[in-house]
Amino acid sequence: MAGDPKIIVIGAGILGLASAYHLLKSGRRDLLVIDRLQGAGRGNTARSAAAYRDMFSSELNRRLSQGSIAVYEQIQKETDIGLKRIGYLWLKTAEQMRQSRASLDAMARAGVEFETLEPQQLRKLLPEMRAGSMVHGILGRNCGILNPNLLCRFYEKGIMASGGRLVYGAEVTGFTRNREGLIFGVKVGEQILEGTVVVAAGVWMGATLRLAGLQAPVVPRKRQLFSISAKEGPLRQLLHTKGFSAHNLLPFTILPGDAYLRPATAAFILGFANPDQPPGLEDQPEAERDFFVQRIRPQIEEYFPPFQGAAPEYAWAGHYADHPADSHPIVDRVGGAIIVGGDSGSGIMKADALGRIAAGLYFGMDRVELGDGRPFQVGDLGLKNRRLAPEELVI
Ligand SMILES: Cc1cc2nc3c(=O)[nH]c(=O)nc-3n(C[C@H](O)[C@H](O)[C@H](O)COP(=O)(O)OP(=O)(O)OC[C@H]3O[C@@H](n4cnc5c(N)ncnc54)[C@H](O)[C@@H]3O)c2cc1C
Repeated sequence: MAGDPKIIVIGAGILGLASAYHLLKSGRRDLLVIDRLQGAGRGNTARSAAAYRDMFSSELNRRLSQGSIAVYEQIQKETDIGLKRIGYLWLKTAEQMRQSRASLDAMARAGVEFETLEPQQLRKLLPEMRAGSMVHGILGRNCGILNPNLLCRFYEKGIMASGGRLVYGAEVTGFTRNREGLIFGVKVGEQILEGTVVVAAGVWMGATLRLAGLQAPVVPRKRQLFSISAKEGPLRQLLHTKGFSAHNLLPFTILPGDAYLRPATAAFILGFANPDQPPGLEDQPEAERDFFVQRIRPQIEEYFPPFQGAAPEYAWAGHYADHPADSHPIVDRVGGAIIVGGDSGSGIMKADALGRIAAGLYFGMDRVELGDGRPFQVGDLGLKNRRLAPEELVI
């Protein structure tokens, strides 16, 4: 860590990496990314389902993901980041369909690519679904899955190629301030490093800012994923459902009760963002068998009987960095530091855009261009005078 960097990014998760990458692309050279873990993306980035979608009720959230997806699709053409545009399939009851009508109309007006499927159309596409199911479908087209480790590797390489430095296994334990009392450096053990600080500490944003006596409106909430083998039999057949995308895979599928199935290699990853989960940060979060048996499997087997009695091969847990006020991310200055986070479970799909906005804030820009060429007002993700309608589609 010799030599003071001019920008110090705390956190080598996807948001810290994308921010560092865009700061360097915009002309900075002296930048250091610090993470207490032993490599990039080993916090919640590695624990995610790593699915992406541009279907959000909020226009701002849509623009963040559309801008990022455009970049990820471009990267995939040159470097494998495991991106597969397999679509998102929401299964909805007739009543839920009626309730979704207004946001679907708004998305259609905004040019989001999706189609609605009547129960009989859906049954043709998905013969494995329980006979007699009267659910409707919403199929998002500009949606899919990617590999978060490979995406981190892409940004990490870009940071190194632009002269940025990454230090792993180093924990920020405090901050230093300049004469105006603003944060202008970090303490790492005995060492003090001076420069503009970017806090991209994910669910540890609150704990990190507390070191400077500051608060963040970000709340950690436990989330769990369970992997079910689909190497053979009816689950394999369901995984390789034809007709939805060129990949001949079942789309990322969300059930009426909000549990979801995420296709993976010879497996399904099952999850459910339990709305009753109280906020809280566990040191070593573990997936709970009871949660799978009582809350997830019953939802899934109701529609897909091959999951009856299915047991996870492995399972893991992490946390969403929820921003309960409106479920939109935050990019702002707090106490002199730039903070990037509060992504409420959709940080990977918005990371490239958030990195550009963080860089724009550093350079004092009002507007930045996102990866799809569209402009974004940097102040729109600030905390001051923020009046965003809460996002309705948090999964
Ligand atoms: C179960 C689950 C499923 C998810 N599914 C999806 C999905 O399908 N699609 C999607 O887009 N998102 C999903 N997410 C959310 C996604 O994982 C996050 O939005 C994203 O990883 C946030 O990235 P980050 O860089 O902010 O956080 P992290 O990846 O957690 O990185 C923060 C880093 O900061 C470091 N750090 C913290 N404090 C310090 C300190 N004091 N000193 C040094 N280092 C520090 C940590 O070690 C960590 O590496 C999911 C999350 C979970 C838990």
